[in-house]
Amino acid sequence: MKCSFCPKESVYFRRYEGHNYCEKHFTRNIEKKVKRAVGSNKLIEKGDRVAIAHSGGKDSSNVLFLLNRMFETNPSIKILVITIDEGIKGYRDKAVEKSESFCKKLGLEQHIFSFKKEFGFTVDDLSNKMKSGYCGTCGLLRRYLLNKKARELKATKLATGHNLDDECQSILMNFLKGDLLRLVRIGPMPHLTKHPKFVLRIKPLVLIPESESELFAKVNKIPFQPKKCPYSVDNPLRGETRKFLNRLDDTSPGIKYSLYESACKIKPFITEKFKKGKIGSCKKCGEPSSQEICKVCDLLSKL
Ligand code: SF4
Ligand code: ZN
Repeated sequence: MKCSFCPKESVYFRRYEGHNYCEKHFTRNIEKKVKRAVGSNKLIEKGDRVAIAHSGGKDSSNVLFLLNRMFETNPSIKILVITIDEGIKGYRDKAVEKSESFCKKLGLEQHIFSFKKEFGFTVDDLSNKMKSGYCGTCGLLRRYLLNKKARELKATKLATGHNLDDECQSILMNFLKGDLLRLVRIGPMPHLTKHPKFVLRIKPLVLIPESESELFAKVNKIPFQPKKCPYSVDNPLRGETRKFLNRLDDTSPGIKYSLYESACKIKPFITEKFKKGKIGSCKKCGEPSSQEICKVCDLLSKL
């Protein structure tokens, strides 16, 4: 098959569009989509200090590569990298190594923080101690640390690697769990309740499906950790939701985009309701919390 835009060999057929892409045109197309997501939603503006949450996986590595390419010659925007080492032997240690060498290659300032140093234990320790639930605990602690460290590093934005599939899974799971208020978290720049200690989250890859994100990393020889986290089986609902969405997309190509757009249309109504809720600060650690004691401090006191 030939590329639909030049005589070169195609590496990808986008079914919902009916176009074939060679490596060059595929790369250009993804770059254009990400630029559009960043530009039209004003994700990054003059004077921003953008901290990229880099796990070493394909999505956050693409964010690193793309944002660096977009802003490396722009002196009014600073890109820095935060990597969290949760302590998962044979998985995260390898990803952190890849992340370090990639940041060095791109000349980016990187800050690595570990669960061991910050909380006194690793996720491996947790898995020995707890029967289940360590994946959720790990995610909670990582989000807490990312926000805290980004703020301490004076970042104005925190960029994550969430792709279209992640967003669709969250949308569907929130519906299935009756947790519609959580829809405020979807979209390229979720408007969470204002709190001086929250760093604004941005998701530059929100319009890129997971399979295209993976191909983009391969085509552009971006180093990433290809392995799945050994603990990710811990969340069966997400796994089943992923399979279900992929099956739907097989028979109705492009359906992930329409699900995402539907949720974006509902979101403003939910945001209004959400704004009325109050968020204060945790009495123990001072981080944002809707309860007197935040979830992380509560958890740490029980471990
Ligand atoms: Fe942590 Fe779960 Fe992610 Fe593994 S899959 S790194 S346990 S949040
Ligand atoms: Zn081409």
